[in-house]
Amino acid sequence: MNPSDSPSPSCADATEPGVLRVAQARAAIIEQLTPPRGVERLALRDALDRALATDILSPSDVPGHDNSAMDGYALRGADLGEDGGARLRLVGELHAGQRFEGVCGAGECVRIMTGAPMPRGCDTVVMQEQTRVIGENRIELLGRHRPGENVRHAGEDIARGAPVLSQGRRLTPADLGVLASLGIGEVSVRRRPRVAFFSTGDELRSLGETLDEGDVYDSNRYSLHGLLRQANVELLDLGVVRDDPAALRAAFSDAAAIADVIVTSGGVSVGEADYTRSVLEELGRMNFWKILMKPGRPLSFGRIGEAAFFGLPGNPVAVMVTFLQFVAPALRYLASGRVEQPLTLRARCGDAIRKRPGRFEFPRGICRPAADGGLEVTTTGRQGSGILTSMSRGNCLILLPEDNAGVAPGEFVRIQPFGPLSSGLGD
Ligand code: AMP
Ligand code: MG
Repeated sequence: MNPSDSPSPSCADATEPGVLRVAQARAAIIEQLTPPRGVERLALRDALDRALATDILSPSDVPGHDNSAMDGYALRGADLGEDGGARLRLVGELHAGQRFEGVCGAGECVRIMTGAPMPRGCDTVVMQEQTRVIGENRIELLGRHRPGENVRHAGEDIARGAPVLSQGRRLTPADLGVLASLGIGEVSVRRRPRVAFFSTGDELRSLGETLDEGDVYDSNRYSLHGLLRQANVELLDLGVVRDDPAALRAAFSDAAAIADVIVTSGGVSVGEADYTRSVLEELGRMNFWKILMKPGRPLSFGRIGEAAFFGLPGNPVAVMVTFLQFVAPALRYLASGRVEQPLTLRARCGDAIRKRPGRFEFPRGICRPAADGGLEVTTTGRQGSGILTSMSRGNCLILLPEDNAGVAPGEFVRIQPFGPLSSGLGD
């Protein structure tokens, strides 16, 4: 069936106003965002996963001097005979951190340990195992050798003045090591985005309160807290706000005054008690989108004052899926100024999945290493947007784009990991 023939709202068409494909919505969001200005100077240890504010050029050569890659004997390559061998006189010994005073002359060699600077005059190291002692201070090289072997050259890893890391780069553990190897102990990083978040709904109770009939615990604030922590942003938890225009107005205004981004859950569908929409229209510039996706159809996005606003759906699964599709990439962009596509992987699907073309579906999956060395994925079972255990048991979203018409067992699909891809998950 052609989706545009259908009167059903779940099969709406992306040409209708306010109806967007997932990729269109993601692009429209990035286009309207401006990464916050502001730079902090941080000690290297505190800079993990922070985005560099400037390019880093190497202040020095790494390694700083030519040094030995082996335990063995340093010598002059010119002393190697036609056959690649030589007999040499031992004139000294050199450990890492020591320097050889003097020069190693023709016909001479110096015992050298890995990492020790090359003695003046030497350009070659022959490893210990390829030598033998043939008399007092006499060494014979075994096998064929070439001038220059087993030497690490100054600047071979990083040359002085060379670009090392560029601005916007999120620092990894290896990056911290690379910067330390250059003697750089402090870096300038971009300020982290400040994200204020709250839940809306009269039925929501905070942990510690008792539930009356019809009440539910506010779980979204906890899953959002976890997702925001993983995004490494500054968090401002504003609690639960009632479905009441005055309370919502106050909460949005307070949040806009302190945050770069506001994330709320609930109240974006057209429910009786959902005043969110009218309050948002009054306070900011808003889009109310129907995204061709499941779960998570309604999404509002816009600005309140200087803050970007994401109004996520209330359903506990929908809130997480829409966060992963829209908020997480937006926060990465705000943190680094770089647009990064989420990592997706190819996996063989063990289950049949029914689906009609028209919208992007995100069934939750459990992905594991397969016997053939690839990945296999199975669904977590029931996929209702209130079944939060599907997110907890799963470690990936199975990506079934708009045009997909269902999956047969054994077919390959793409997945988007959101949890560890180790075995033993789903317990
Ligand atoms: P809404 O989008 O406000 O109409 O909410 C849709 C569904 O999600 C309703 O069943 C709500 O009770 C539920 N819901 C909304 N917000 C939360 C929340 N913070 N925690 C748990 N469930 C919620
Ligand atoms: Mg609600």
